[in-house]
Amino acid sequence: MKPSILYKIKPSNPYAHIFTVTLTITNPQEEQTVRLPCWIPGSYMIRDFVRCVVQIKGCDDQGELSYIKSGKGGWTFKPRSGSLSVEYEIFAWDLSVRMAHLDQTHGYFNGTSVFLYAEGFEEQPVEVTILPPDGSEYENWKIATTLTRADDIKDIYSFGVFQAEDYDELIDHPVEMGTFDIIEWESCGVPHAMVFTGVHNADLEKIKKDLIPICDYFIQFFGAPAPMNRYLFQTMVVGSGYGGLEHRASTSLLCSRSSLPQIGAQNPPSGYRNFLGLCAHEYFHTWNIKRIKPAVFMPYDLQREVHTTLLWVFEGFTSYYDDFGLLRNGLTTIADYFEVLGVNASRIYKNSGLFKQSLSDSSYDAWVKLYRQDENAPNSQISYYAKGAVVALCLDLKLRLESSISLDDVMREMWYRYGKPNIGVPEEGIENLIMELSGLDLTEFFDYNIRGTGEPPLEELLLEFGIQMERRAELRNGENSGKLHPVEKRDHEGCLGVKYSKAPGRIGAKLHWVFDGGAAQKSGLSANDVVVAVDYLAVDHSSIFERIAKKGAGSTVVVHAFRRDELMTFEVELQAPNKNLVQFRWMDNVSEEIEIRRRNWLQAPSEKLLST
Ligand code: ZN
Repeated sequence: MKPSILYKIKPSNPYAHIFTVTLTITNPQEEQTVRLPCWIPGSYMIRDFVRCVVQIKGCDDQGELSYIKSGKGGWTFKPRSGSLSVEYEIFAWDLSVRMAHLDQTHGYFNGTSVFLYAEGFEEQPVEVTILPPDGSEYENWKIATTLTRADDIKDIYSFGVFQAEDYDELIDHPVEMGTFDIIEWESCGVPHAMVFTGVHNADLEKIKKDLIPICDYFIQFFGAPAPMNRYLFQTMVVGSGYGGLEHRASTSLLCSRSSLPQIGAQNPPSGYRNFLGLCAHEYFHTWNIKRIKPAVFMPYDLQREVHTTLLWVFEGFTSYYDDFGLLRNGLTTIADYFEVLGVNASRIYKNSGLFKQSLSDSSYDAWVKLYRQDENAPNSQISYYAKGAVVALCLDLKLRLESSISLDDVMREMWYRYGKPNIGVPEEGIENLIMELSGLDLTEFFDYNIRGTGEPPLEELLLEFGIQMERRAELRNGENSGKLHPVEKRDHEGCLGVKYSKAPGRIGAKLHWVFDGGAAQKSGLSANDVVVAVDYLAVDHSSIFERIAKKGAGSTVVVHAFRRDELMTFEVELQAPNKNLVQFRWMDNVSEEIEIRRRNWLQAPSEKLLST
């Protein structure tokens, strides 16, 4: 039977970035309201996609209908007879993974940005016809989406008719169209593809060779068969950018050209590790958040914020395992792994927000804090990604040390208990599950690390696995490299207790962050102040770090800074730099017991990985 909810979408004017969409409801309600979501699952911020609707009109069998607006994102029609058709235009000019984008080079959309839903029909099957733009210049355009085909066209990349079980499924298969490049492979019998849009010279064969083991690994990690029939990575290559959004059978990625391996180059660029990490992260979400998900997300209420205290599990655990996906498949060395860990861990040790916001609150408040950061963010917040990953690591080590299970076993049980049978995870579900599986009473661990504030017990746990955690000062403005350096470097240098960024004009250095209790804050300097001189000599973004360092800890300097257009003078007593970066050192000559424990945890494929 043909679905009663039908969509047609067409890039009607690529130059003006306009998609034209028609929604037809064959059996509308007497008063039929249609509405766009306010947010997209996976990105916890109210975005009010309705602001991109340009014009809208409804008609029934007798002709055009008037409408009454319904709240900020809806329209109500009173159809007189027959079906109701609503035609509208969407302005698509957001080059991120969260909305929609269209020009003469390609089109991309998330269903949340383009498909109105018909109230009362959200659970009905839908059909969607996707058309290419008119004109011979678009003859070669193809389409890449994991929406299920409803026509009998064999070429999966051709435009045509698609279907979804309900609205929730419709909006979980983003669509890319244009003249993208394609790589394809099978992982555990499931067809996989990555399509590349944008200008690039990437070595696609190398990327394919590296993605295969990552996908194989995670399918086997949770246990074959994979929960999806096929999987698609949609990669948008740009000059500068980074981001990803997970979906049930695909992911949309944004990456910079320079992070991809180039054809003919001997070694991949350093950013390639991040790109592969991003792929692993979004792929892991296929299980952890797309199928194992908080009960409050079932179903998603797309009109308002939906709060969960569990994002530390869904983003934090995923951030822990994405790097493991690379390490356990030999795509990074152990040394690389610990460098990345240093970068991630430093993100929490640097900020006094660690002592003010708990992981559970950070998750709950994602909508108003993590996604809407202000000048005080490092002093008031902690990321459920970064601290969630560190707590996942601590939990894994603790379980390996004190019980017969590891976090790997927990993930698999989460899959069997919640993900596979499609049961929502209650807010206390994960903590209870871990205690049940391990037989440990972890109440204190969870109270402190999840609901409390302060440093996770990483240092002492890693020691049991032959890894030394060290703290040192940053060696340049905003450094967060995870690279090993002597910890006593910079002990006597001067420091303002800030992070600098480029000032909007030609002169000066902008104070991007002003850290709590630092020399700058103590003397009255503020975030967004533009420092133009230190001891009466001009400074800028590239010179100020060294200039302040050379003055030495304990010395007093005169700082001139603009706040708005007002020049202000400050006397600042410089501090010694805080040792708030962490780095990890592989300990040699550990006991055999520790050595075995370390190997079992890392499961890196080869001894010689250590040498690089
Ligand atoms: Zn994520």
